[in-house]
Amino acid sequence: MIIAVDGPAASGKGTIARALASHYGIPHLDTGLLYRAVAAQVTRLELDPALEADAIAACDFDDHLLGDAILRDDATGQIASIVSAHPLVRAALLQRQRRFAHQPGGAVLDGRDIGTVIAPDADAKLFVRATPTIRARRRHDELHKRGSAISYDQVLSDIRTRDDRDSSRSTAPLVAAADAMELDTSFLSIEAAISRAIALVDARLQR
Ligand code: C5P
Repeated sequence: MIIAVDGPAASGKGTIARALASHYGIPHLDTGLLYRAVAAQVTRLELDPALEADAIAACDFDDHLLGDAILRDDATGQIASIVSAHPLVRAALLQRQRRFAHQPGGAVLDGRDIGTVIAPDADAKLFVRATPTIRARRRHDELHKRGSAISYDQVLSDIRTRDDRDSSRSTAPLVAAADAMELDTSFLSIEAAISRAIALVDARLQR
């Protein structure tokens, strides 16, 4: 069973994907971490994220990097959205994600292009949305808890920039798959969003 969870930054897709994985007893992959690892590696090697050749050189990262707290920084997310627009970067990370999706027993993956590119054959697809201001508020609270002094206005502006970049790129843009079930978490508690996601996936699996 493959469950694809896509949506923009801070929509709640990661929380929902982790809860679905635990509910159905299958592994979960946060695919944004892969692009964030490339971004962190670009920064560490002092490369230019806008140059495809530089970004490609950063795709060969050590898996230990995936657990590094620097990946969670707002700045890393911004650079991730620059490197992720390069078709060759997406190609370099494609097989790893497809293998994870198609492992025996199934998996939950969250990202931007899981239902459209990585696993178009997924058994259930969710597209998670929330308004930009609500997503900025959530991300701002999360960053503050981790000690960041970034302002709410900066977080909102970063979210809008990232949304525009992710939605307008020509390769694998952020877009709901035609057969995705939409879930707007703007006015839902975490618990309510998770219950709704489970109900939607259950309904799709029973069809
Ligand atoms: O999901 P997260 O915010 O961690 O993703 C960071 C960036 O990585 C996104 O803004 C997006 O540009 C890129 N990404 C992507 N495709 C995915 C997952 C993330 O392009 N499947």
